[in-house]
Amino acid sequence: MAVYIVLLGPPGAGKGTQAKVISEKIKLPHISSGELFRENLKAQTELGKLVQGYIKRGELVPDEITIGMVKERLEREDCKEGALLDGFPRTRAQAEALAQMLAQKGETVDAVPYIAVPPKVLIERLSGRWSCRAQGHVYHEVYNPSKIRGVCDVDGSDLYQREDDRAETVENRINIYFEQTSSLIDYYRSRNLLLEVDGTKPIEEVSREIFLSLEKVV
Ligand code: ADP
Ligand code: AMP
Repeated sequence: MAVYIVLLGPPGAGKGTQAKVISEKIKLPHISSGELFRENLKAQTELGKLVQGYIKRGELVPDEITIGMVKERLEREDCKEGALLDGFPRTRAQAEALAQMLAQKGETVDAVPYIAVPPKVLIERLSGRWSCRAQGHVYHEVYNPSKIRGVCDVDGSDLYQREDDRAETVENRINIYFEQTSSLIDYYRSRNLLLEVDGTKPIEEVSREIFLSLEKVV
């Protein structure tokens, strides 16, 4: 049986940060829908051109486009043992589409760590975030600085500030999370899959809490 883990939480909760640690430890590919979109934006593919307006404004990309992209990614060879999903699903329709695409392979979502962080902390996190151009490693200028300013510790690539991390877009993204995504907390809780962790603790402590909660699953 393959293992599918969904990381849930608002923008800036630490999903990408934790996904890098978890995916290395449990040897599952980290599939971030945001990263997939950004790769397409960088390469200016048709998909990239189609979604750039939504991303720039901090809005959700329509379900049909997002679901198609993630489905295609999950069908690749490296996902045959499962995947660690970050940023997907973000709507009820996406959650149902995920359940359906896994059911076709006789699989299900196995666990949903939910990284809980209140809105006022999120703004500070996103405004200080620096992301690596090559592989999306994330840093924070105060809470998790890179060893050399502007350079990724892992792969040496440039660090940059995401356009959608600007103050005016951040607020929009957090509001959209509460309007369209936060109901997935109950969706997964009612299916006994939700594992809530306190995301305000330091990065290593959050990792420890997630690993403890996942012990029964992986
Ligand atoms: P998400 O993927 O959920 O949007 P990230 O993993 O990119 O969030 O984290 C957002 C920002 O917060 C980054 O700058 C990251 O370094 C920082 N961060 C992540 N987890 C913590 C934490 N537990 N404490 C403090 N800062 C954190
Ligand atoms: P993220 O890297 O997860 O913060 O995502 C960056 C942006 O990509 C979001 O603000 C959305 O515009 C878009 N995006 C990422 N994942 C999804 C998704 N599951 N559904 C819709 N839009 C998404």
